[in-house]
Amino acid sequence: LVDARGVVKTYGDHTVLHGIDLQVHAGQVVCLLGPSGSGKSTFLRCINHLERIDGGRLLVDGQDVGYEQRHGKLYELTERRIARRRADIGMVFQRFNLFPHRTALENVVEGPVVVRRRARAAARDRGMELLDRVGLAHKAASYPAQLSGGQQQRVAIARALAMDPRLVLFDEPTSALDPELVGEVLDVMRDLAADGMTMVVVTHEVGFAREVADTVAFLADGVIIESGDARQVLDDPRHERTRSFLARVL
Ligand code: ATP
Ligand code: MG
Repeated sequence: LVDARGVVKTYGDHTVLHGIDLQVHAGQVVCLLGPSGSGKSTFLRCINHLERIDGGRLLVDGQDVGYEQRHGKLYELTERRIARRRADIGMVFQRFNLFPHRTALENVVEGPVVVRRRARAAARDRGMELLDRVGLAHKAASYPAQLSGGQQQRVAIARALAMDPRLVLFDEPTSALDPELVGEVLDVMRDLAADGMTMVVVTHEVGFAREVADTVAFLADGVIIESGDARQVLDDPRHERTRSFLARVL
């Protein structure tokens, strides 16, 4: 579903991604670990069509991010076409980014109605199902400020799912939460993984990665230093950088 080959991203003369290779197959969970500034968020932004890449090739669902292929040549996509492709990818951020003046249910319903042009009544029914799935049906009428951080993040996950994404990207979804709220969000993500959702998760939750991820990739200085089976990378890393990083976060 995601096929990155030698992906390069530069900002001005600063190269942030130095050639990322990563494959994510349908139904897989891939956890990305790595120190601050290593390029994890930038890579997710590339997968989510928020950045144009400067080298290599990045295919999501068989299509080039930012480009389309015609007659064997690549052409830049218009913003409109890019936005349409982005709609198939869910993204959950560290900060929940809910609309503050809308209830939990309205936050979940907005995307399907506005972007997918679904009928509001049907979108509300489905929105309630999704809120129930994340354990928040009873909070449907609450505003974000009336919810805990963990509840807000679960609404954000329901909102991402409401678009029927092919893939959900998570960028440190639990880093902004009080420790006692981390578990409820990880539980929802674990359910989603068990349900077969394809997920790329940037996280420092090594326990979650060990338990849920099919693949763990360790990123440093814009390259993937090592990647492979979650247990192998986490319990028996081959590279010294991975080892010293894990020693620090554990
Ligand atoms: P963290 O763990 O702190 O979230 P990260 O691995 O997600 O870090 P990125 O946010 O991808 O790292 O940033 C990688 C590098 O790219 C950093 O050096 C950052 O300063 C730089 N960078 C990110 N976005 C931009 C931008 N829009 N313009 C210029 N430089 C940027
Ligand atoms: Mg980041």
